Amino acid sequence: MAKTYSIAIDGPAGAGKSTVARRLAKELGYQYVDTGAIYRTVAYFLDLWGVSPKDIDGVTRYIDELTIQIEYDEEGTQHMMMNGMDVTADIRTQDISQKASLVSAHAVVRDMLLDMQRDVAKKYNVIMDGRDIGTVVLPRADVKIFLTASAEVRARRRTAELLAKGQKADYSQILKEIQQRDYQDTHREVAPLKLARDSVKVDTSDMDIEQVIGQIKTIVGKKIPV
Ligand code: C5P
Repeated sequence: MAKTYSIAIDGPAGAGKSTVARRLAKELGYQYVDTGAIYRTVAYFLDLWGVSPKDIDGVTRYIDELTIQIEYDEEGTQHMMMNGMDVTADIRTQDISQKASLVSAHAVVRDMLLDMQRDVAKKYNVIMDGRDIGTVVLPRADVKIFLTASAEVRARRRTAELLAKGQKADYSQILKEIQQRDYQDTHREVAPLKLARDSVKVDTSDMDIEQVIGQIKTIVGKKIPV
């Protein structure tokens, strides 16, 4: 099998990972893999069945009933299939964000999703974003980036994003939720969010999106043929 290249982008919620990864994937002709969407699909499924994301017995019992597939449309947009149903739009709520963070702490959930993520990287050149891509999923990724920004900046960006879409947004509530997710994602025992030894940290607090993309392209260009 021909060599495939992989770029891992990890970091906390709202650091701009998906915007950067999507843009870069388009420019490089790589497949963009949003791994957060996979955990969101698990959380959404359990929620439909009324299983609390903290209830490890319930999670273990119900997870066997779930089949997840990642599909891509002609534009390369990722779709999440839950037992054959497209739930891509349903998983983007604040409630599911919190539940995904809780459910992703269970080893039984992470183990079930590991091969699915690795299989995509075996087949395609990928830019994969998440929390544990450089540390656990693709420890031999060609490029590893840790994208971060202060919680306040991330909350401000998220608030502006929601307002721009005409949705309600309360900055202090969003900040609280971001801080809570940061805490959960960095303090769990299995695959916590942390900087991989060989990853490059990019703090985007004082950068705009074009500056971030420029910097990441420079990092990528040093490691893989583009
Ligand atoms: O990236 P996103 O905000 O969509 O991820 C939702 C949640 O899924 C995160 O808060 C995190 O707890 C979990 N997640 C994870 N590992 C990944 C991607 C996401 O634990 N690789």
